[in-house]
Amino acid sequence: MEYPSVRETDPAVADALEGEVERQQDTLAMIASENHVSEAVLEAQGSVLTNKYAEGYPGGRYYAGCENADQVETLAIERAKELWGADHVNVQPHSGSSANMAVYFSVLEPGDSILSLDLTHGGHLSHGHHVNFAGKLYDVTHYKVDEETGRLDYDAIVERAEDVDPDIIVSGASAYPREIDWTAIQAAADAVDAYHMADIAHITGLVAAGEHANPVGVADFVTGSTHKTIRAGRGGIVMCDEEHAKAVDSAVFPGSQGGPLMHNVAGKAVGFGEALEPEFAEYAAQVVENAEVLAETLQDHGFSLVSGGTDTHLVLADLRESHPDVTGGDAEDALQEVGIVLNANTVPGETRSAFNPSGIRAGTPALTTRGFDADAMRTVGDCIARVVSNIGDADVYAEVAADVQELCDDHPIYE
Ligand SMILES: *Cc1c(COP(=O)(O)O)cnc(C)c1O
Repeated sequence: MEYPSVRETDPAVADALEGEVERQQDTLAMIASENHVSEAVLEAQGSVLTNKYAEGYPGGRYYAGCENADQVETLAIERAKELWGADHVNVQPHSGSSANMAVYFSVLEPGDSILSLDLTHGGHLSHGHHVNFAGKLYDVTHYKVDEETGRLDYDAIVERAEDVDPDIIVSGASAYPREIDWTAIQAAADAVDAYHMADIAHITGLVAAGEHANPVGVADFVTGSTHKTIRAGRGGIVMCDEEHAKAVDSAVFPGSQGGPLMHNVAGKAVGFGEALEPEFAEYAAQVVENAEVLAETLQDHGFSLVSGGTDTHLVLADLRESHPDVTGGDAEDALQEVGIVLNANTVPGETRSAFNPSGIRAGTPALTTRGFDADAMRTVGDCIARVVSNIGDADVYAEVAADVQELCDDHPIYE
């Protein structure tokens, strides 16, 4: 994949773009929130719609000349409704965080209270971390996972809700390997008459494919990202029933955004269309199977996994028992040297720091897009174990790097 026009006008940026094509091809993207979109999605995102202002919504824009923008946005909305079964969909949020912001703005006032999963237990910044807008605007308290089991304790969430009496409960996570029981969290919201926002950013694709339970129809609001387990390009989405449709739409525009990124909305339309094809269900099932295989392989090598395994696209390894001298940061750095790109992550009951935590998080969505099957995944798990168990051993790194390169060569991303 080349960028001839960029090359002609701006060689420095072309170097970086082509360098990135190579980096993606020659490394294993195991950051659980990353994926590789199709060339069709890339084309749509790189299209002339980047030139167009389309403030407003299809059929009701504040600018002339929006007929093609209307067509693209309507397709994205209709396809999203079909994928997730929602009554109302807003496809304009620039990101998952913007989608969450729109929901908060639609039903909360500054100073209102949010109850959400603690960041160090797998939550997200936009669920109210103090450095994030949500933490600055709202009164935020957290629930946690059970540190023994690594799982959400739904009775404890009900109790926490009764103690705190929040205006909204946020469910969903960035680093939780197990299926989430939306109805159990809805029960906590019902107990205290709070709204419930289910943030499925990581698992939009798994939910669309039926690999994870769907919170649409359970929670008042469902937010998601469009670039993680669904391959529709970087962006966000909000889903709700008709009752909240107007409030959500006006919280996105004009409440928190100006003109929608119509080129990205086009990417969403194309990516959602791809996800409606039967192959997508096979893909999502393979993502989950690959995560199971990765979990088993790491466990065979002595790793201890938070919650003892996975139901989703990711595994979270707690290195404290199996590799007490290796921090998550050490593992991340060493793996990057051999071409395996993942991230250090906090674990429940973290005893180190957020900057150098005790765990690593690894996801299978991007590798599965490249065609990795269970066998290839086992090889990847072996590679991770060899590196983390031999930190600093240049000979091992060289051997593993060669194996990683072979896996990359066998699984091209863009032909
Ligand atoms: C990734 C993620 C988001 C969205 O992140 P953006 O980078 O803003 O798109 C929101 N919530 C959770 C739980 C996430 O994991």
